[in-house]
Amino acid sequence: MTDAPTIFERIIAREIPADVVYEDDRIIAFRDIKPQAPVHLLVVPKTAAYPDVAALAAADPELLAAVVAVAKRLAGELSDGDYRLVFNSGANAGQTVFHVHAHVLAGGLAEGTLG
Ligand code: 5GP
Repeated sequence: MTDAPTIFERIIAREIPADVVYEDDRIIAFRDIKPQAPVHLLVVPKTAAYPDVAALAAADPELLAAVVAVAKRLAGELSDGDYRLVFNSGANAGQTVFHVHAHVLAGGLAEGTLG
């Protein structure tokens, strides 16, 4: 028995729509459906092999570095180049989709806050 695909696998497969802002053979990025900042993107490795950033870092650090590079590039293209990168890891930290993804938050974030 295989697990049901996550919402991100369905977006990658174009089974459900998303506002895609970047795509290559390994990574897709799209706008979060419930933005928490003026610019709120999700940068997602296409592989569903890794549930969180620690698993990705352990198995494929080069792919993690590519996720960070895409985040930086998009923050420059879609905002002023400054950004906050968040990887929720575990349900008690707010993770709801167990397919590793970076939240890229940008566009006038308050100083000294993490919320
Ligand atoms: P997590 O809570 O796992 O760190 O982040 C999951 C994110 O995915 C949430 O910020 C949520 O708003 C976003 N999300 C959930 N479903 C969809 C969807 O169907 N489309 C898009 N674009 N974002 C989604």
